[in-house]
Amino acid sequence: MNASYRPAWVEIDLSRLRQNFSLFLKDKPAALGFISVVKDQAYGHGMVQIAKVALEFGAKSLAVATVDAAIELRQSGISAPVLVFGERTTEELELCVAQNLTCFVNDMAQADNLKKLAVSVGQKMPVHVEVDSGLSRYGVRWTEALPVIEYVAGLEGLVLEGVMSHFAMSDELDKTFALEQLKRFNLVLAQMAERQVRVKCRHICNTGGYLDLPQAHLDFVRIGILPLGVYPSQVCRRIPGLEPVLSVKTRIVGIRELQVGDYVGYGMRYLATEPRRIAVLPIGYGDGYPRVRNQGEVLLAGKRAPIVGGNAMDAMMVDISNIPQAKVGDEVVLQGCQGDDEIDVHEIAGLKGSVSYDILTGWRSRLPRLYLNAENVRS
Ligand SMILES: *Cc1c(COP(=O)(O)O)cnc(C)c1O
Repeated sequence: MNASYRPAWVEIDLSRLRQNFSLFLKDKPAALGFISVVKDQAYGHGMVQIAKVALEFGAKSLAVATVDAAIELRQSGISAPVLVFGERTTEELELCVAQNLTCFVNDMAQADNLKKLAVSVGQKMPVHVEVDSGLSRYGVRWTEALPVIEYVAGLEGLVLEGVMSHFAMSDELDKTFALEQLKRFNLVLAQMAERQVRVKCRHICNTGGYLDLPQAHLDFVRIGILPLGVYPSQVCRRIPGLEPVLSVKTRIVGIRELQVGDYVGYGMRYLATEPRRIAVLPIGYGDGYPRVRNQGEVLLAGKRAPIVGGNAMDAMMVDISNIPQAKVGDEVVLQGCQGDDEIDVHEIAGLKGSVSYDILTGWRSRLPRLYLNAENVRS
């Protein structure tokens, strides 16, 4: 654990991560490769720790969203291929060459920029082209992709390793648009085949696509959230045995007896109409818990205790009237399991009308990360 004396922390169970990776490998067709997406500190789990386990389980490459993160991977001694999603500035391209990162070139001008840099240092740079098949974010529109792909494939100093696209909606029940995007991407792949442009690595699936659209698997899938034991949505296919890797815990630091007429928290959002007993927890929205008012629950002694009043930046109060044995120092679970109950990330996401990804990446860095079962043992 990083130096911290706080009685509030994020627990990351690396044996569960390994368990999830083995379940994924069993679920996955043997010939299908995977890219491990560890952007935004592996969704708050710690990029380097998760990346090392992913490589141990056969990830062909890692993917991040910033050059800074890619450099952090290199500085931790990881020499595996690293894809950097998105568009790069010219300064960033120089770093990509220096650190041997794999970037995306989606237009001819960018291809020329990277080619010049590569040729000047006598290096061959691996690149992928992103085809925008309907997300309207990065990449070249599918109707205009072929000339760019052919141009990149023909440039000295660049090696066209892959072409990819990205789904706008792959984890909902309605797959209409995902199938339309797949059709557009397949059209580009067919045009490439006709022009005899070959690449090793064709990829369009994230976790939602991997789980629900086997016909879209192609050569590689890009997997971020799945090995963390969290599903992108409530409706996509499940892999039995997968369990969340991350929990958020704290300890009771104070107990107060409320009398009739007492209020709790900023904004006076809770009024005791009968005597209540509440516990004070030293964790708040400044740690990434949603800003709530009389909403949300925590686990304490294996039971649910509701949050009362509005939570603060650094604290929240929960009603423990029905948990008489609760005392200062007791462990409290905000996200994760205790006893037979679980508060999962989707439940917390529901408090702010958001998604699991937002909650996972939202646990702030001031919460120390405690890694469990860090040694390399497979269970
Ligand atoms: C984040 C991301 C992924 C991974 O998505 P998951 O749903 O976490 O598997 C894949 N591809 C791209 C381009 C991404 O930005």
